[in-house]
Amino acid sequence: MATDLTEKIIQPGNSAARPVRIHPLRRGVQVLLAVLSVVAPFTNLFRIDIRTDRLWVLGQDFSAHNALMLFYVFSLFALVVISISLVYGRMWWCGFTCPQTIVSDFADSARQRLRKLTHAHWSRTRSVLSTSLWLSLMAVAAVATSATCVSYFYAPATVWQTVVAPTTDIGISTAVGILALFCFADLVAIRRHFCKTACPYGFMLGVLGDQHTMTVRYLWERGEDCISCKKCVRVCPVGIDIREGPNQFECIGCGECIDACNDILPRIKSNPKPGLIELRFGLDPMRRKERMTVFQRLGLWDGKRGLVAVVTLTLIVGFMAERFGSYGVLATISPLGTIAGDSRSIHETYQLILTNQTSSSVRMSLSVAGIPGVGIYQPADVVEVDAKSEKQLTLGISAPRAALVADRRYPVSIVARTTSGPAAMSKAATFFYVPGF
Ligand code: SF4
Ligand code: SF4
Repeated sequence: MATDLTEKIIQPGNSAARPVRIHPLRRGVQVLLAVLSVVAPFTNLFRIDIRTDRLWVLGQDFSAHNALMLFYVFSLFALVVISISLVYGRMWWCGFTCPQTIVSDFADSARQRLRKLTHAHWSRTRSVLSTSLWLSLMAVAAVATSATCVSYFYAPATVWQTVVAPTTDIGISTAVGILALFCFADLVAIRRHFCKTACPYGFMLGVLGDQHTMTVRYLWERGEDCISCKKCVRVCPVGIDIREGPNQFECIGCGECIDACNDILPRIKSNPKPGLIELRFGLDPMRRKERMTVFQRLGLWDGKRGLVAVVTLTLIVGFMAERFGSYGVLATISPLGTIAGDSRSIHETYQLILTNQTSSSVRMSLSVAGIPGVGIYQPADVVEVDAKSEKQLTLGISAPRAALVADRRYPVSIVARTTSGPAAMSKAATFFYVPGF
């Protein structure tokens, strides 16, 4: 049973310095992300347009078939998620930024506010009114969430137009309608059940986390200070008791229990003390913030974390510099795996993507180096690429058998050089594979 604290409350200010509250920070981040998720497809921050076959990343326009670019984008995203999770645990994603958390928080908060507003506990009629209002609000939220998701794959203006006039585009309005049904089910019934039972990220963290990962922890070494008010349990969105141990699978690291205990314990008149739940790197009670180095305060507790941080940052900077830097033309190449040969030479094909970032049309000549006598047999002529666009083509390379050893891979580089328009050059590296003869 919860302890009645009425007698024990003292005014804030009599206690030690008040800790930073996590709840307002969380809400601020969530509102910002919700707005950003609606704005992002409109401003081409990120979206894939299925009908026009285009991919937009940070306002840059690519072909949606550019598998290499998609691979870069999703690999980088996965690497960033994994490295941040290794250091900062579940809080930054599950607790703050995951879309499932944001919609669940919205649904829970709307339900509580509506119950309060309509005084739902006064009578059954008021309770039914409160539930009806909540279900209606969730239906609107489901359509808005669905339209936001679909606008990442179709023209955003058309998608939102179909919300008010479904006949504008039957294909899009069908997609919005079907997805809205799933969103509605999620908002009214699924919510945290997904986080508690099916979320793959939660399972992944069980593997990634170690003794230095940031964790929400009950200070069991100060257990005698707990007044068993259970406020930390009542505010927990997944309904667990953090006092039963850290790293419980259901804990999403939202930090609400930290605020709850900090709201109660420092106000106890007889014995004001800081809250009993905190966020810290690992579970060692002897770790004191004031004894940490700057790197440890940032979460870089060991060489593994330092290495992951350096690799991730290097890849991000390299990716941004290569894709959005001031290059004129760019060549990217990947093997297609087609290898043929005759008595004198071996032929191999590749997919070559030539990107022209300049504002004028260019003609490009191609050359290859790396093996004595190597040459390009396809395409036969120079390649023309329009301004601010890219061209995909099949590149054929052949090399004389006399220069090759069976069952070996030879590094080769392709050079694309402009022969008209602004002078520019780009080099792409790949391998020429020689099978066993
Ligand atoms: S940990 Fe804090 S909030 Fe939870 S029951 Fe104990 S005193 Fe109350
Ligand atoms: S125990 Fe509950 S309230 Fe505390 S961080 Fe975990 S999910 Fe949030």
